[in-house]
Amino acid sequence: MVDSLGQQHTIAHALRSATVALMRASTSPRLDAEVLLMHVAGISRAELLAHPERRLGPPQRRRLKTLIERRRRGEPVAYLRGTREFWSLELTVSHDTLIPRPETELLVEQALARIPEDSELTLFDIGTGCGAIALALAKERPRCRIIATDCSPSALRIARQNALTNGLEHVQLRAGEWFAPLAAEYAHLIVSNPPYVRCDDAHLRFGDVRFEPECALIAGPDGLDAIRHVTRYARQHLHRGGWLLLEHAYDQGLAVAQLMQRHGYRETKCYRDGAGLDRVSAGRVA
Ligand code: SAM
Ligand code: GLN
Repeated sequence: MVDSLGQQHTIAHALRSATVALMRASTSPRLDAEVLLMHVAGISRAELLAHPERRLGPPQRRRLKTLIERRRRGEPVAYLRGTREFWSLELTVSHDTLIPRPETELLVEQALARIPEDSELTLFDIGTGCGAIALALAKERPRCRIIATDCSPSALRIARQNALTNGLEHVQLRAGEWFAPLAAEYAHLIVSNPPYVRCDDAHLRFGDVRFEPECALIAGPDGLDAIRHVTRYARQHLHRGGWLLLEHAYDQGLAVAQLMQRHGYRETKCYRDGAGLDRVSAGRVA
C-alpha cells in the first residue's frame, strides 16, 4: 500500500500539487511547476525526472510555496527564478528589465547575417535592457566593438552583471537617453528592440507584461514614438553603408518601412518571426 504521508514531501508530490495549484493561473502549469521546483531544489530537469522520490526540506518547501503563490498572482516565471535563457546565454533578469523574448533572436540572426565572422566592426545596441542583444552579438562576434545604451541605470546594472557572468565584459554599457551616450561615435550596424506597444493596448492588462517596466514596453499612442526617434537619429551615427535593424510589433512593418524611407534608408526589408509575423525591419544608409 502506498504510504501517502511518506510521499508528502517528495519531489513527485510537490510537482503534482504545484501543477494543480497553477492550473488556473498559467497556460503551462506543469512546465512552470517544474521550473520553479528545479529552481528551489537546485536541480536539473534530468535530476527532477530521475529522482521523483527525493525529499524537499522545510526551507525548500516554504520557498516553493511562496513562489507558487506569486506565480498564481501572475508574476512571470523568469522574474521568480531571476533568469531567462536567450541565445544560449543564461541571463539575469529583474523587475527593472524586460524579459527577453524568443522572437528577438530574429533581430540577432539578421544582425549576424550582416556581420562577417572575425570582423572588427562597431555595433550599437540601443535600449539594451538586461543586455540580451548586445551580449548575444558579443558571443558570436568576439572581435567586434560593441556599445549598448539604456536610460535605466538599474537595467544597466543587470546588463553589467550579465556581461561579467557570461565572460563578455568587453561590451561597453552606457547610461543615457537613446544616442546621447554615443556623442559623435559611429557604428557599422545599429540594433534596437525599443518599446513599441501602444499606450492603450489591451494586452498590457494581461499576463506577464503587467509586471514588466512600462518604459520598456510603451511608446505613445501608436507605439511608434521610440521607433520614430531611433530611426531619425540612428543615421547620424552610422557609417556609409551601415545598417539599422529594428524590432517592432507585428502590425508596424509598413509604418517602419515608410519611416525608414522618409529618413533616407535604402534596401528596406521586413522579416517574419517564427510565428509568421512581421517582427524585424532593416534599412541601410547610402
Ligand atoms: N534590448 C532588450 C531586449 O531585447 O530584451 C530590452 C528591450 S526593451 C523592449 C526596451 C529598452 O529600452 C528598455 O530596457 C528601456 O529601459 C529602454 N528605453 C526606454 N526608453 C529609453 C530611452 N529614452 N533611452 C534609452 N533607452 C530607453
Ligand atoms: N514584444 C513585447 C510585447 O508585446 C513588447 C516588446 C517591446 O515593446 N519592444 O509584450
